[in-house]
Amino acid sequence: DPSAALRQGLLGLSRSGRVRGVIEKAPVSRDVVRRFVAGETTADAVRASTQLCDSGRLVTIDFLGEDTLDLEQARATTDAYLQLLGALTLEGLATGGRAEVSVKLSAIGQALPGDGEKIALEHAREICQAARNAGTTVTLDMEDHTTTDSTLSVLHDLRQDFPWVGAVLQAYLRRTEADCRDLATEGSRVRLCKGAYKEPESVAFQDALEVSSSYVRCAKVLLEGEGYPMLATHDPQLIDIAAALAAKELREASTYEFQMLYGIRPNEQQRLAADGHRMRVYVPYGDEWYGYLMRRMAERPANTMFFLRAVATK
Ligand code: FAD
Repeated sequence: DPSAALRQGLLGLSRSGRVRGVIEKAPVSRDVVRRFVAGETTADAVRASTQLCDSGRLVTIDFLGEDTLDLEQARATTDAYLQLLGALTLEGLATGGRAEVSVKLSAIGQALPGDGEKIALEHAREICQAARNAGTTVTLDMEDHTTTDSTLSVLHDLRQDFPWVGAVLQAYLRRTEADCRDLATEGSRVRLCKGAYKEPESVAFQDALEVSSSYVRCAKVLLEGEGYPMLATHDPQLIDIAAALAAKELREASTYEFQMLYGIRPNEQQRLAADGHRMRVYVPYGDEWYGYLMRRMAERPANTMFFLRAVATK
């Protein structure tokens, strides 16, 4: 299957430092990156979030970056989140959780040798404290499968003090249905997505249909449970099934939400919001866009063509 091969290839490149150098220096127009990334600065993130909130959507904001092996950079990323939460408070966006933040633990120290997990936990605590002061929440993104146990353990520790901290579970992992069962408890916020990394067959379903049926099983566990499910997908079939499951469970609109990525299916985002669903948009910003953009390319060959055409016509 050529598209599966392209996907695997692009996901391989998303971790390549050499290719990253070439692509970052390529004369890619700002428009290409800007289709998926809100901008570089806190002000850009606040501006995009204000527009989305004004249109009846909610946001979760991600300061781009991942896999840092540099303590200073992990500190700087933590500070960027503190600054962002301050700005959201000033703009009145944080109240009631209209704007929350998404954090990759590998960006705040998890990958540092030795006590990386502990450093990430301390940084995450600072971000959670700032989010609590701002009146909003934090969700931990999920990265490749080698980090899943560590991320769930940090989640567990954080929730002792900040019970509203959420995490992402990826339907492509074979373990996820069981993780959903563990986390489908009162007060627990779980974002369910398909999963965006290159994973071996031993831990992850490879076939698109198998991933989708796992998504349905996981969504069912979460929606039948006591927690707050966050259904993150652009897949029209999965959205319909999740909405039907929520209706069957007689869930109020305030007890779950749909989520999509910035710039992807914006009309569908508006439609779901207009239909009375809570609809949250994941808004990435910052200049470390390489890994994020490559994963979006891998999801859809058409995006890669859009990207290559823009490079070629420069
Ligand atoms: P797909 O089958 O990929 O897409 C279904 C349809 O949606 C496509 O046919 C197309 O019409 C549209 N579409 C999907 N992707 C694109 C795109 N890139 N460009 C244009 N159209 C597109 N993954 C993780 O591994 N960890 C995370 O922490 C994480 N957080 C996420 C948070 C949110 C809010 C969302 C929405 C996704 C997140 N993801 C994360 C990514 C996720 O795992 C998938 O890779 C991604 O959402 C694509 O899967 P899909 O469910 O949309 O289905």
